[in-house]
Amino acid sequence: MTYIHDTIVKLQHSSPAQAEFYQAVEEVLDSLTAILEHAPKYRQQAIIERMVEPERQIMFRVPWVDDNGQVQVNKGYRVEFNSALGPYKGGLRFHPSVNASIIKFLGFEQVFKNALTGLPIGGAKGGANFDPKGRSDGEIMRFCQSYINELYRHIGPTTDVPAGDIGVGAREIGYMFGQYKKLVNRFDGVFTGKSILWGGSLGRKEATGYGCVYFASYMLADRKQELAGKTCLVSGSGNVAIYTIEKLHQLGATAITCSDSAGTLYHAEGINLATLKQIKEREQGRLTSYLQHHPEAVYIPCSDYPADGHAVWRYKADLAFPCATQNELTQADAEALVANGCLAVSEGANMPSTQDAVAIFLRHGLAYGPGKAANAGGVATSQLEMAQNASMLSWSFQEVDEKLQLIMRNIYTRARDTAAEFGEPGNLVLGANIAGFRRVADAMIEQGIV
Ligand code: GLU
Repeated sequence: MTYIHDTIVKLQHSSPAQAEFYQAVEEVLDSLTAILEHAPKYRQQAIIERMVEPERQIMFRVPWVDDNGQVQVNKGYRVEFNSALGPYKGGLRFHPSVNASIIKFLGFEQVFKNALTGLPIGGAKGGANFDPKGRSDGEIMRFCQSYINELYRHIGPTTDVPAGDIGVGAREIGYMFGQYKKLVNRFDGVFTGKSILWGGSLGRKEATGYGCVYFASYMLADRKQELAGKTCLVSGSGNVAIYTIEKLHQLGATAITCSDSAGTLYHAEGINLATLKQIKEREQGRLTSYLQHHPEAVYIPCSDYPADGHAVWRYKADLAFPCATQNELTQADAEALVANGCLAVSEGANMPSTQDAVAIFLRHGLAYGPGKAANAGGVATSQLEMAQNASMLSWSFQEVDEKLQLIMRNIYTRARDTAAEFGEPGNLVLGANIAGFRRVADAMIEQGIV
């Protein structure tokens, strides 16, 4: 265990003040003790030391002009973490909280997540501390163009293929792709999550949310349970939350909550998805306007949240789907879920549960699908988009969805079987981390010290 401590101490010196990054590293290293003991080659080859250091980090100025003619400056990032398994792959996040720590934790997670899919993709993440909230379409376009004015030279269909994340959807991908094409004069499959009019894949938009629900259904099936009839808590109201709710409702479960950065919505008879899509996909509005359509629903503003956590996790339900952002589910929230009889947690967001919360889930024997396994359907379908672009074909929605289900099933069985192999049956954190690690580490060894 001292190597975990030593690695974190070294990172604290070489990469100071990156709390989220240390958290992600610690969680993975915690799982690796057994495999490092079994296979000394990983220590001899300094695999851990190499894995925690990104292959390349790009940080740059993103200047742009707002609608009032004011010059604004943001900080842009792309962290190319590991390319042992394929081109760098991972999303871009535009959010005011973005900093080097957040991008590095996301990039580090992405390496293991992408490995776990079994597909040939390396791991990366990027973004900017830009707040799209309240910005006009013209401002978003100018920001995206300026961001790509630097990033274009670092990306390419066999080099690094960005996609969306929080604050980056089809509109932003469109503006970034347009500027990339203008600069390089090539129509490359360099982004995923593109519009289906010009190279996107059917099913990509739905994939993260649908995949997260498929993952929950496989966890439940092993416990002789099914989704139909279950009451579910969902946090968030972005792309992942919306398509998690859609798939839950299609499979006969009921999502009774969702949230945004201002508050939580509780609707006992089930969230009305048409209203939610209207507000979030078309009006870019706030959840409070849901009450105009459904006055019987309850809205809890952030100011009324419990001091030790989030209102969304305090309702009684069978299943929980954290689909908003990192560290949105605390130890006290996890205790509340357990006390209310929650059976399973499937994470649509990246690292939404704190380490203390994860410990509670595992101690109480909940079926717990960590984000890097449960939300991998998004990036997996991005790889299907790359495959379609490379072959100049496009597949039907049904074909993509069938592949997604198969990939999610494989991810689940890989994590479950690896956990059992290493003596901790049911611990999908351990299983996912070891299975992802083994694939990347073995590829790195075969490719030499580079
Ligand atoms: N941002 C998503 C994730 O966290 C998707 C990345 C991608 O499609 O490349 O996995």
